[in-house]
Amino acid sequence: MPVAPAASPPTRQPGGWCFDTTYLSLPGRLYVRQAPVPVRDPQMALFNRPLAAALGLSLEDLPEEDLARLLSGTTVPAGATPLAQAYAGHQFGHFALLGDGRAILLGEHLTPDGQRVDIQLKGSGRTPFSRRGDGRAALGPMLREFILSEAMHALGIPTTRSLAVTTTGEAVLRDHVLPGAVLVRTAASHIRVGTFEFAAAHTDPATLEALIRHTLGRHYPGLVPDGAPATEAAAALLTAAIDRQCSLITHWLRVGFIHGVMNTDNMTLSGETIDYGPCAFLDSYDPATVFSSIDHGGRYAFGNQPAIARWNLARLAETLLPVLAPGGDLTWVQTLFDRLPEQFDRQWQQCLTDKFGLSADAPRDLITAGLAAMQADEADYTNTFAALTDARQKQEQTGTAPCPFHTPALRRWYQDWAAAAAPPGSATRMAAANPRRIPRNHQVEAVLTAATETGDLRPLHRLLEALTEPYRDDPDHIAYTLPPAPQERVYQTFCGT
Ligand code: AMP
Ligand code: MG
Repeated sequence: MPVAPAASPPTRQPGGWCFDTTYLSLPGRLYVRQAPVPVRDPQMALFNRPLAAALGLSLEDLPEEDLARLLSGTTVPAGATPLAQAYAGHQFGHFALLGDGRAILLGEHLTPDGQRVDIQLKGSGRTPFSRRGDGRAALGPMLREFILSEAMHALGIPTTRSLAVTTTGEAVLRDHVLPGAVLVRTAASHIRVGTFEFAAAHTDPATLEALIRHTLGRHYPGLVPDGAPATEAAAALLTAAIDRQCSLITHWLRVGFIHGVMNTDNMTLSGETIDYGPCAFLDSYDPATVFSSIDHGGRYAFGNQPAIARWNLARLAETLLPVLAPGGDLTWVQTLFDRLPEQFDRQWQQCLTDKFGLSADAPRDLITAGLAAMQADEADYTNTFAALTDARQKQEQTGTAPCPFHTPALRRWYQDWAAAAAPPGSATRMAAANPRRIPRNHQVEAVLTAATETGDLRPLHRLLEALTEPYRDDPDHIAYTLPPAPQERVYQTFCGT
């Protein structure tokens, strides 16, 4: 069952909304129709005008209080068909039944240029999947997701995005009493590895097959012909999802991103980064870095992310097995997974040659030694690669570049790097692979403190501005390239649920 085009094209509603929610054509076990719960006193905190324009929404003419009501789920846009999605997931390795416990999918919106985008409210009240949770979200974590997801988008990394944050005028109780908020999140879809785990464990084979075909239609159109046998469809989906995750994790490592909570319910089939909880970016380079306060064993450490992605994808394969190999021959699935570390490693090595500005046949030892020197010197990951990019630029212009480093291991290693062959155009490749600015943890914490404790959003806007063109060297934004001073260092991040 491919995603059927609407019988008649949906009409664009006032404000530009154009909902056409194909998820509703899936078997009803996969969701519950559920409206968001209105909030007491909705107020606008952040509104992403460029994203609204890209979605074809023209909401600026609305009085601000109507906009806040709309973006907090207090009123529902015309054509929306609110629902909560069912899913399961392995959280830190343990299987659990989950579902949207504090989120509502308003529907799939069609943009004027034909993209299909999920519009989801996060923090929108209780649903049948809330378990013991209050269905709500606190302001700090929602602002944090806004900053981090928009920064990832600007870095050119597939991600969900953030359209708005509203405050609710209600308090939420966590460790402290905190101001409540609702985030409007957009995504290619919210279909997760956990959605398949739910379908496999709690529905029937027909539902699983419908989900496979729906996901293929949405994220991999044309990959298999309509009406292809289910086995072929499942195999194509698994292979394509693996490729997208390999590419996504390579991007994460490229910019020093640590997701922090790579549970299978937080891994999408679209290949977008989702669920910005205790995530953080590396300052100094160390593959064992963990920031999340709940990741005691370092399961989701920076350097462990490729192995965890493989583990999660194995859970996806497991759910597909009845369709993939009805006769029981699993040899090719096994081979696929056996080769996965090599597939990932190939991509990562390619990415590293771009970051270091080396040719594809450069000695691998030079790259390994570069990373080891960075670790030994506790060098800043982002700034080391930025300095190296500048050095290569200088070298291309003048034939030589003095060592930009002041720490012993990097100074020694630099001699070998400077002597290695620099392929033509390597400075350009380096500039595209090495961002100048990332959302640094201490700066994110500082703008969140200003926003939540004194209501001052100006530092947050300045940070967002500095992160919109992260690959452009910009002396005006030099402050955002500074690593934390010892007293500013962030050691732990919290998911804040
Ligand atoms: P997360 O850690 O954000 O990926 O959430 C894991 C699961 O817990 C998801 O099913 C969420 O919907 C649910 N959840 C998180 N916070 C709350 C909350 N405050 N109320 C209800 N459900 C929640
Ligand atoms: Mg989640």
